[in-house]
Amino acid sequence: MTREELYQSIYTHDTIYLPPHEERDVPLEVSLGCSWHKCTFCDFAKDAFQIHPMEKIEESLRVLAYLRPEDRRMFFLGENVFCIDTEQLLRIIGLTNTYMPAIKEYAMYSRIDDILRKTDEELLLLRKKGVDALHIGVESGSDSILAERKKGITSSQTVEALLRLDKAGIAYYLTVIPGLGGQSFSYMNAVETARMLNKVHPRNIWCLKLKLWEDTPLYKEAQARTFDVMTPEEIIKEERLLIQNLTVTDCLFEDTTVLDKYTIRGMLPEQKDVLLHAIDYLLSLEGQTPAS
Ligand code: SF4
Repeated sequence: MTREELYQSIYTHDTIYLPPHEERDVPLEVSLGCSWHKCTFCDFAKDAFQIHPMEKIEESLRVLAYLRPEDRRMFFLGENVFCIDTEQLLRIIGLTNTYMPAIKEYAMYSRIDDILRKTDEELLLLRKKGVDALHIGVESGSDSILAERKKGITSSQTVEALLRLDKAGIAYYLTVIPGLGGQSFSYMNAVETARMLNKVHPRNIWCLKLKLWEDTPLYKEAQARTFDVMTPEEIIKEERLLIQNLTVTDCLFEDTTVLDKYTIRGMLPEQKDVLLHAIDYLLSLEGQTPAS
């Protein structure tokens, strides 16, 4: 088999999505789908949730050991792999050590409740075994928006889980969604999300403006006019308010979806003004005046 055919043999889908900053990791497919699968805006989790049998994971590791023997960091693919119980995660890490001893660090997606179901001791043990970072869609700091979009977590649960990751020494990269509250709750989404983020220590905040996908319940709400969709300009003004209210430190802020065509990126707090000016400039290109 060619290298291409070997890669194709171990992944379910033709395209593999790795989050920003993990693009160079070795991707190991551990599960498919999301164990929650209820968020009304989500088009991401198309597969029925399943954790692959150890035999399949082992076969993938054999192939990856041949293709990428020197790599040091691995990403466990699956919408929320961290929901897998600690014992099984440790078995997968142990198997990886056998086939790919150069791998020293692991990263994966997680939901907040996946973290809360693990004890402090389990988190510490996973850290010790190489779990270095979790990528988590926290989406909003507003409890009413989270409830309305059926996220299944509250902002205080998010803070509790992330502070426990701090204690264990596991880094976290967070995704938030400007526009998720619609026009009516735009101010609340910005201010309450900033308030929540200010209580924790994300390595990275990635803003992904709300995109309405046709097959989602939120799309149907928008069609029925029970959700007041925001324009890209309104959304970036909401994001500007979020940035203004952020006091996080040592955190890379980025948005690859600004006005559907631009990327902004900067360290907080040092480059807060640069980010705000960049937004004002991009708005001016669209003939808009910035929100104050
Ligand atoms: S937890 Fe994430 S992957 Fe699962 S349904 Fe919600 S947004 Fe989608």
